[in-house]
Amino acid sequence: MDEGRLKTKGTGIPTRGARSLGEALAQCQRLGMRLSRQRRFILELLWETGEHLSAKEIYDRLRQGGKDIGHTSVYQNLDALAANGIVERLDRADGCLYGSISDWHSHVRCEDTGRIFDVLDAVLPPDLVARVEAQTHTQIYGYRIEFLATEKLPEQ
Ligand SMILES: [Zn+2]
Repeated sequence: MDEGRLKTKGTGIPTRGARSLGEALAQCQRLGMRLSRQRRFILELLWETGEHLSAKEIYDRLRQGGKDIGHTSVYQNLDALAANGIVERLDRADGCLYGSISDWHSHVRCEDTGRIFDVLDAVLPPDLVARVEAQTHTQIYGYRIEFLATEKLPEQ
């Protein structure tokens, strides 16, 4: 099962997203999305870094890497990729971040570095989920956990 998504309920949520650059490219093709060079640049960068980056950071890194891509093109491609479930979009108070893994997963957010790490196998005990459902009179079909962290100090 996809981590964080409960198996029992039919929810119409898209199936498992890509777990590699190759899968992401294949997903684009399946959806009939044109694989322009610019679109490839963005996907390659996200899969290479494994980081969650803002559109500006993506633009800056591609330009630093000598890629010929415009500001508008970065924004438009990120919009299209996120809207089609090819990349992850995290809405933050200070803007959007984009990541390579598009389906349900959890995150560790390091307050010291600002980095966000993907966690693909965070699974809550079913009795906890059942208790929360009972308390809130809802039917839970998934969850995402945000772990808050600081940098681990080297042991003396
Ligand atoms: Zn993520």
